[in-house]
Amino acid sequence: MDIPKDHPRYGSLATRERLAEFVRKGLMTPTGLVAHGRGEAFDYLMGERTTPAALNAEKAAAAYLLDAKRPVICVNGNAAALDAKRLIELAVATGAKTEVNIFHRSEERMALLIDYMRECGAKDILGENPDSRIPGLSSDRALCTGDGIFSSDVILVPIEDGDRAEALVRMKKIVIAIDLNPLSRTSRMATVSITDEMSRALANMINFVTELRNNKKEVKDIISRFSNAGNRKAAVEDIREYLRSAMRDGESND
Ligand code: ATP
Repeated sequence: MDIPKDHPRYGSLATRERLAEFVRKGLMTPTGLVAHGRGEAFDYLMGERTTPAALNAEKAAAAYLLDAKRPVICVNGNAAALDAKRLIELAVATGAKTEVNIFHRSEERMALLIDYMRECGAKDILGENPDSRIPGLSSDRALCTGDGIFSSDVILVPIEDGDRAEALVRMKKIVIAIDLNPLSRTSRMATVSITDEMSRALANMINFVTELRNNKKEVKDIISRFSNAGNRKAAVEDIREYLRSAMRDGESND
């Protein structure tokens, strides 16, 4: 597929053009663009950078992935368009399986996305031949593979919708969400809610995985110390603090 494999900076015009190209080629749906716009708005409100609370959640997420027996990384159209390479890099670093799982499913879109992920370097990519269903979800959103999402113990869901996140939590999975909106149902439901932009979050998680991979005790300690409720409050506080400082800077120019 003739889509460039390099990923421009999030929020840039080049990113938007890239996503529009994904829609034109049928890998993303127009509603994916709406979700992206919502993400950009939240990112603006946190200064387009990783906040301390996000970094803390990213460390916990890395620990959970290293501690997992059957980790899985979910990929949808937005995630593939924004940073397929880092999704694959994190999967390789943690031994996680990668499964394409999309909201508006068609066989053609699935095939396009799986092909694209392969072109970006993914070796084993699941999702094309679903044989299981996520309980409690109607329609095609429930379709998944027994070898991947269905039997996973820890699952990373970037840019996810609330219903599926909730259904995965009901299946007793450790759900790691990457969602710029700390108030979304996905963020409220997840075991680890990362309030950060997906590419930045993945880069930090890859670094933490490298740092922690040979330290089992530290991995266990990070998991037992982490409180998602406390960290979500801190994430909202980080946004409030950024807005206060942005307003103070603005006032000095008035
Ligand atoms: P929910 O159903 O969880 O309440 P929602 O209705 O906003 O949330 P979607 O419309 O599926 O769910 O939106 C996906 C979410 O992904 C949005 O909250 C948006 O902020 C977030 N998002 C979009 N782009 C990114 C990105 N690059 N990195 C992280 N999060 C993102």
